[in-house]
Amino acid sequence: MFLENKANRNINRGWIEVVCGSMFSGKTEELLRRIRRANFANQKIELFKPAIDVRYAEEEVVSHDSTSMISTPVHNSAEILIYVNLDTVEVVGIDEVQFFDEGIVDVCNKLADNGIRVIVAGLDMDYTGKPFASMPQLMAVAEYVTKTHAICVKCGDLAQYSHRLVANKKQVLLGEKDSYEPLCRHCYNEVRRMEEDENSKDFEEKEEILE
Ligand code: ZN
Repeated sequence: MFLENKANRNINRGWIEVVCGSMFSGKTEELLRRIRRANFANQKIELFKPAIDVRYAEEEVVSHDSTSMISTPVHNSAEILIYVNLDTVEVVGIDEVQFFDEGIVDVCNKLADNGIRVIVAGLDMDYTGKPFASMPQLMAVAEYVTKTHAICVKCGDLAQYSHRLVANKKQVLLGEKDSYEPLCRHCYNEVRRMEEDENSKDFEEKEEILE
C-alpha cells in the first residue's frame, strides 16, 4: 500500500504520483483514498477531472463503488493552472488523466516543481492494449507509480486489459460494466484471436456473397 512520504515535511517539496491500471482496477478509489488522507491532514486540496467524463455527476469524481468527492471539470490541461493557487494549494488530484491533451505532463511537472503533491489516476492502456495518450510520459516523470489490477472475469487471475465488448473502434468510449470486461494477458490474447478469426470469417462470407 502506498504511504505518504513524511520526510522534509517542512520544506515545500512537490512530487508526482501516478495510479494507473485497467478498468475496474480501483484506480479512482485509490486516488480518493489518498485525497481523503490528505484531507484528514488538513491539507488544501484541488480535485479535477476532464469535462468529457460526465458518466455520473457533473462536479464529482465518482468511482465505481460510489464513493465520491467534489471535483472541478476542466476542458484542457492548461485550465488546471488557472484554478490552482500555487501559494496555497498543497495537493492536486486529477482523475481520468488519460483523457487530457499532451500538455498535462508539463502541467503536472509545473505543479510539482512549485511544491505541490500531484496525484493522477488513469487508464494505462486503451481497449486494444496500446498505451493511452500521455500515460507513458506521466509514468516516466512521476516519483511514484502504482499499477492497480482488476480480476480477470474468465480465470480469476490479475487482469490488466480492458476488453471492449461492443463493436466500436473509437479510442474513447465512456462506458460501464456492459461495455468492458477486465481480462488477464492470457485470456485477452485468446479472446482477441477468436475475434480476429470471426472477423476474417465475416469477410470471407461477404466475399462469397459478392461472387
Ligand atoms: Zn484470465
